[in-house]
Amino acid sequence: MPGTQTPLGLFGTEDLIGEDDRAIRDTVRAFTADRIRPHLADWFDEASIPARELARELGDLGVLGMHLEGYGCAGTTATAYGLACMELEAADSGLRSLVSVQGSLAMFAIRRWGSEEQKQEWLPRMAAGEAIGCFGLTEPDFGSNPGDMRTYARRDGDDWVLNGTKMWITNGSVADVAVVWAQTEDKIRGFVVPTDSPGFSAPEITKKLSLRASVTSELVLDDVRLPASAMLPEARGLSGPLSCLNEARYGIVFGALGAARDCLETAIAYAQERDIFGKPLASYQATQLKLADMSLELGKGMLLALHLGRLKDAGTLTSEQVSTGKLNNVREAIAIARECRTILGANGISLEYPVLRHANNLESVLTYEGTSEVHQLVIGQTLTGQSAFR
Ligand SMILES: Cc1cc2nc3c(=O)[nH]c(=O)nc-3n(C[C@H](O)[C@H](O)[C@H](O)COP(=O)(O)OP(=O)(O)OC[C@H]3O[C@@H](n4cnc5c(N)ncnc54)[C@H](O)[C@@H]3O)c2cc1C
Repeated sequence: MPGTQTPLGLFGTEDLIGEDDRAIRDTVRAFTADRIRPHLADWFDEASIPARELARELGDLGVLGMHLEGYGCAGTTATAYGLACMELEAADSGLRSLVSVQGSLAMFAIRRWGSEEQKQEWLPRMAAGEAIGCFGLTEPDFGSNPGDMRTYARRDGDDWVLNGTKMWITNGSVADVAVVWAQTEDKIRGFVVPTDSPGFSAPEITKKLSLRASVTSELVLDDVRLPASAMLPEARGLSGPLSCLNEARYGIVFGALGAARDCLETAIAYAQERDIFGKPLASYQATQLKLADMSLELGKGMLLALHLGRLKDAGTLTSEQVSTGKLNNVREAIAIARECRTILGANGISLEYPVLRHANNLESVLTYEGTSEVHQLVIGQTLTGQSAFR
């Protein structure tokens, strides 16, 4: 017998979402069902994704930089953006990463910290998916501590000359423009780097076991010469890149729940179909205890995400609150994905089902945009007033 309620239905979260936001969410869900889901197992298996083609389609869909105002961006609510991230990640965290990096990291950096010329030049094309952006902060030796980065921009007359290496950069090899953060004589500054600049290269990172349907790259800057106008004029110091990360993390608060929801729906359907010792796996108490507990965490995470969405729309969301949501929802999502995997037994390790793909993807989500430990330290510092980072 089919169940009468979905995990999120139990919490009645649908009633907390306005009609317009729901319509946007449903459009993204339909897009992923038709255009993305049929290909995901192959993209993940082959570790390739038609990023350029997809960027244009995502641009047509209106999700690239959708919560930004002007310059061809849709200007939706933050809640609608979160819900879109949830649907994209219910398909695959790689797809959501493409959209997050484009909108919340690269486009947000230019929108928030760029000159009028930089905004005019890049944002409309990026919103349309005609130009892809990446965001280079992490280096081989500096991840959680980007303030110690070695990439350096030195002045030469009016020009800037950049040298250094960035690592683990989403969209890197397919990007038309890289927002690169570098040390200068006057603090860390951001630079808008066209990827066809002489001295710039972006070799792809291979042999990944996670986010295989996503392009991840190294960025090599070898005497890359840029005009004075390439610097983001308004960002000085680490607060510039951290403000962008905060935007992308907010999308992850919702996104990770999408992956978890997809796992849980798959596990519930599977348990009903699978007969063990002569009756459905779903009819065993041990299975139901797992499903009930996972539904609680999914629903609580969704209430938290929607609450943070409301705060962001009201303009009062703090970075500590975003850390709270990212830490909780990614940690619970990966726990749900792993538990669902057990319900599917051996089928759980196959790409015929999405569950281990999601679990593996969430390993990256747990690490990027601030690791879980870093967010614990952020919360610890907020609670005690003591920094335990160093
Ligand atoms: C698939 C993927 C895509 C990515 N995309 C991008 C991108 O587009 N742009 C970009 O700039 N970066 C990107 N990253 C990099 C990501 O942001 C970093 O991996 C992350 O910040 C962690 O840095 P790290 O890997 O160097 O780990 P480290 O910083 O070396 O951390 C190692 C361990 O130490 C822990 N740790 C760190 N500090 C402390 C402390 N003070 N106390 C206790 N424990 C601590 C960490 O939590 C972690 O468990 C991506 C990463 C992945 C995996």
